[in-house]
Amino acid sequence: MIKMSNVYKKYPNGITAVSGLNVHIDQGEFVYVVGPSGAGKSTFIKMIYREEVPTEGSIKVGDFDLVNMKESQVPFLRRYVGVVYQDFKLLPRLTVYENVAYAMEVVEKQPKTIQKRVLEVLDLVGLKHKVRMFPNELSGGEQQRVAIARAIANMPSVLIADEPTGNLDPETAWEIMDLLEEINSQGTTIIMATHNSQIVNQMKHRVLAVENGRIVRDEMKGDYGYEG
Ligand code: ADP
Repeated sequence: MIKMSNVYKKYPNGITAVSGLNVHIDQGEFVYVVGPSGAGKSTFIKMIYREEVPTEGSIKVGDFDLVNMKESQVPFLRRYVGVVYQDFKLLPRLTVYENVAYAMEVVEKQPKTIQKRVLEVLDLVGLKHKVRMFPNELSGGEQQRVAIARAIANMPSVLIADEPTGNLDPETAWEIMDLLEEINSQGTTIIMATHNSQIVNQMKHRVLAVENGRIVRDEMKGDYGYEG
């Protein structure tokens, strides 16, 4: 469960990126965040995994209070919320296997548990046969699959995806969506910022439209709603 109440974020340069957000997202929902560039989508999303902290208001993610939270608790939040980015952000000097394992090592899992889970998630994303390869030996779609495997390795309740298909060709984008859909069907909440109107219009889920830092539309099984 994610609950934002009266959330504002003003950056040090004086720009107010979001103003008065009130949002409730239940466990297991799939939510698209849409809106023009500069609307505040990334800021909204970053506040869910505490990459940014609001200047006003409250944010609850599961049992975590993201405003009144000790820094020492942040690694626990990061187990609860996995993140996938547009540009994958894999570590170039680590293999596919090591990229995923690393995400588990930083939260101090047992080596045996790590090995089993890494192979399990790489199997889930269809890349078990490429464990020894390096990111630059993979296609964009494959790199995004590794990034998704890494993001779900610690079994997060929430998966955040900031433009996950932005760097991919249409066919590969659909494959990544099928994977996110499968992860969602297993109970993981998915929150995805996107400019891909075709995906939003065809793979129907809740749509939050953000403009000028405010939520201007919140629709179950909504449309993209902008010129695609
Ligand atoms: P979107 O993801 O919809 O493009 P953002 O959340 O990135 O929107 O940006 C919202 C507004 O906040 C924009 O005016 C942007 O320039 C500003 N902004 C975003 N990040 C920062 C930052 N780190 N420092 C200052 N201003 C920022």
